Amino acid sequence: MTQQANNATLEKPSVFAMASQQFNSAADRLGLDDGIRAVLGSCKREFTVNFPVKMDSGATQVFTGHRVQHNVFRGPAKGGLRYHPDVTLDEVKALAMWMTWKCAITNIPYGGGKGGVTCNPKLMSRAELERLTRRFATEISPLIGTVSDIPAPDVNTDGQIMAWIMDTISMHSGYTQHGIVTGKPISIGGTLGRTEATGRGVMLMAREAAKERGLPLEGARVVVQGYGNVGYWGVYLLEQLGCKIIAASDSRGAIYVEQGLEPESLLSHKTDNGSVLDYPGSQTITDAELLEMPCEILIPAALEQQITEENAPRIDTQIIVEGANGPTTPEADDIFQDRGVIVIPDILANAGGVVVSYFEWVQDIQHLFWDKSDVDNRLESIITRSFDEVLSTAKEHDVNLRTAALMVGVERVANALNIRGVYP
Ligand code: NAD
Repeated sequence: MTQQANNATLEKPSVFAMASQQFNSAADRLGLDDGIRAVLGSCKREFTVNFPVKMDSGATQVFTGHRVQHNVFRGPAKGGLRYHPDVTLDEVKALAMWMTWKCAITNIPYGGGKGGVTCNPKLMSRAELERLTRRFATEISPLIGTVSDIPAPDVNTDGQIMAWIMDTISMHSGYTQHGIVTGKPISIGGTLGRTEATGRGVMLMAREAAKERGLPLEGARVVVQGYGNVGYWGVYLLEQLGCKIIAASDSRGAIYVEQGLEPESLLSHKTDNGSVLDYPGSQTITDAELLEMPCEILIPAALEQQITEENAPRIDTQIIVEGANGPTTPEADDIFQDRGVIVIPDILANAGGVVVSYFEWVQDIQHLFWDKSDVDNRLESIITRSFDEVLSTAKEHDVNLRTAALMVGVERVANALNIRGVYP
């Protein structure tokens, strides 16, 4: 039996339509011709696999997974793998397209890809997850490779899952292939600084935006939706800059702590109890209340389409840093633009992860590993340069940061297409 997406997913508006709408607004501004627009607006490869996994009960279950390469003009496809009940081909295509722009904005030599399996890893044992991962890696092995398409962790996937993928592909080839995935544990070719890289990028973006806005970070109230890898590291590093983290959530619920919570102790509480709920001294609130909590910096770091035209008018913040991919709909973007709220778009705000993934891949290929300070310093330099380029594009063309970021990214990919030409 295939695990089915739930009804809520079936009613969810197309994420790829939303990504396409964003792309088209940048393409209009850039005056892209119809041919280039058609090429960049579609995914190069969309690969769906249905594959069996032996469950612990002895039963065989069929799962559906996808690997999509949106574009590879600037280099190999790069992008994470997501394990979630709501994974669909439509969502994976959108995430792959955003990866193309993200790699181009940060000017790293990659195209965009993404993958996922429709499953609920929280209901699976470790042994089942390992068998699912190894079989899925085998199924997508015609596409992935060190020079062709390099997966990485995303929602509900981590270094262990990357290790199983690396090992599976290495067993097929008969030799160890370090560069086939990034986000690996250090002991098998991972890089220092990768675990917190996306959160570090979020922190750097919040810092740069606050500077632009003239907002002091000391005492600035921060709200985070999604206390996972990106959310935790983002607020942990912001707290070190003097921010006060007043609310956090996960898939089970949300909490508010008026005097400010302590990020490390909230993480231990979540690890011990499975949720941020019941954190000592906290008040339980709804997810809607969390998003609308007055604050200076809001970090959506969970899933897509959380901020819409429905709740955007009530969101009371100065800066939104999109740790998650696609949390804000285009209609909500317009509302924030009118209200003067700075939205740092996902393709810029969460690019820290792919930048350090790129560092990991470079180190794997060269078999030469860097100090953590090298990783952090190079990341900071790429992130601040990317922010500055996007900000100056926004000012020059009088557009919001999302359209400006897309203009920078789309133009670089269009230039690569123009120079390479259309084969044959
Ligand atoms: P994760 O699995 O580590 O954490 C996700 C968190 O969100 C979990 O705490 C989960 O409980 C919570 N969550 C899920 N649904 C929620 C809901 N409806 N309301 C509130 N919380 C909810 O995943 P992650 O790696 O931190 O990824 C989070 C987002 O960041 C995703 O959109 C992902 O695509 C994006 N992202 C991740 C990376 C990375 O390096 N990990 C890089 C770029 C972008």
